[in-house]
Amino acid sequence: MSRTIIVSNRLPTKVQRTANGLTFQPSEGGLATGLGSIYRAADNVWIGWPGLVVSDPGEQQQVTQRLQADSMAPVFLTEREIQDYYEGFSNGTLWPTFHYFSEYALYEEVHWEAYVAVNRKFCEAVLELAGPDDTIWVHDYQLLLLPEMLRRERPSATIGFFLHIPFPSYELLRELPWGAELLEGMLGADLIGFHTFSYQRHFLSAVSHMLGYPNQSGQVETPSRLVLVDAFPMGIDFKQYAETANTEAVARQILAYREGFREGRIVLSIDRLDYTKGIAQRLRAFEGLLQRHPEWHGKVSLLMVVVPSRDQVAQYQSLKEEIDELVGRLNAQFSTMSWTPIHYFYRSFPFEELVALYRLADIALVTPVRDGMNLVAKEYIACRNDERGVLILSERAGAAHELSDALLINPTDTNHLVEALNEALLMPEEEQGRRMGHLRALVEQYDVFAWTKLFMDRLAYSKIKQHIYA
Ligand code: UDP
Repeated sequence: MSRTIIVSNRLPTKVQRTANGLTFQPSEGGLATGLGSIYRAADNVWIGWPGLVVSDPGEQQQVTQRLQADSMAPVFLTEREIQDYYEGFSNGTLWPTFHYFSEYALYEEVHWEAYVAVNRKFCEAVLELAGPDDTIWVHDYQLLLLPEMLRRERPSATIGFFLHIPFPSYELLRELPWGAELLEGMLGADLIGFHTFSYQRHFLSAVSHMLGYPNQSGQVETPSRLVLVDAFPMGIDFKQYAETANTEAVARQILAYREGFREGRIVLSIDRLDYTKGIAQRLRAFEGLLQRHPEWHGKVSLLMVVVPSRDQVAQYQSLKEEIDELVGRLNAQFSTMSWTPIHYFYRSFPFEELVALYRLADIALVTPVRDGMNLVAKEYIACRNDERGVLILSERAGAAHELSDALLINPTDTNHLVEALNEALLMPEEEQGRRMGHLRALVEQYDVFAWTKLFMDRLAYSKIKQHIYA
């Protein structure tokens, strides 16, 4: 029987070292939920890094056995590999380049060599478990070379690849000394998926400009094979958010939060700390609202959650300082004894509290300068069983391609953003209901389970297509 193998940089589990030994906790991310029914099914497996350096062979064995019981298999990485492959090439070169921040990109040969070596390490881990006709679904920018490495060893396997971040214009890819190798790496797959049609188009154009392979109707003809390329906008577990938003516990949490804001309106902002998220621009827009529309003083607050991320990297540290400074300056300038304009949290919130925040906010302000998809926007929608609330969304988030009933803005146009905020604050309830109703129908229908099924069905179809073509 053929099996399905999921491969991603991180496993859907958090292994930690404590005084009492190693602890294992499932991680709740959207991908883990969406793929849960696949990797947990009989004989299937999810391969990835367990998120912790484990060098002792005895401990490695313990981790392997424990993960095996949950249908997972670890790839162990050394401290050096994490530095050069993960923090170096993945987060220091690919992440900025693919998000149009190439001025932040590092071009280090040692990082590239580690990237090749670790992709090879993942390849060996997959080969150990995969039979010749298995289905292998590889995820994201840390493993761009893996599909081609696998193809060479398993020519008849069914291989899918999905990119969770944007795919940029080929001009950006051309800036990378290793652009052509990365494209060849991805083309080892039978099906390559992106969040949006634009990313798909950018990829096809890069393949045609840089490798000279022709394409037609989303099919690339490499010298040896036909590769399908398509858009699959990823969804969330709508039901989980919608049901949690209706619980007693969340209702109590909302009441508790409400006390801190009295009657005031709440604008919610939630992101990981990242220069792609437009957090500083958002703060400047909120400042613009308070300057240009003093009628909102005392009546509206920004509730801003920034989840710590990559804080060892210089750009992230200076972004954190910029945010701290802006929040301090704005609160010092506008606060009164009874009103704080910005409530700022530099930490993550547990699931139920997050749902309460979504349910509480009159406006969700989601303004990344670049974002592959942005799940926060979809989670906000899923929590609004009351069909109230306004989503202000950057047109440069992948989610904007689907969520056209949001107020779409250009995140670097501060004037536009200020007026969108004012418009959202003034929006009549009927219009909120109409827009939210449409948005909810869409997010409910294309949830993460529909996304998984669509990709897997299309992957099976790609093989049929190749047989016809051959
Ligand atoms: N999130 C979380 N805890 C928090 C705040 C956010 O787990 O305190 C989650 C949020 O629910 C969402 C994810 O972080 O699922 C962020 O995903 P998104 O696609 O918006 O951005 P990314 O961080 O992947 O770039």
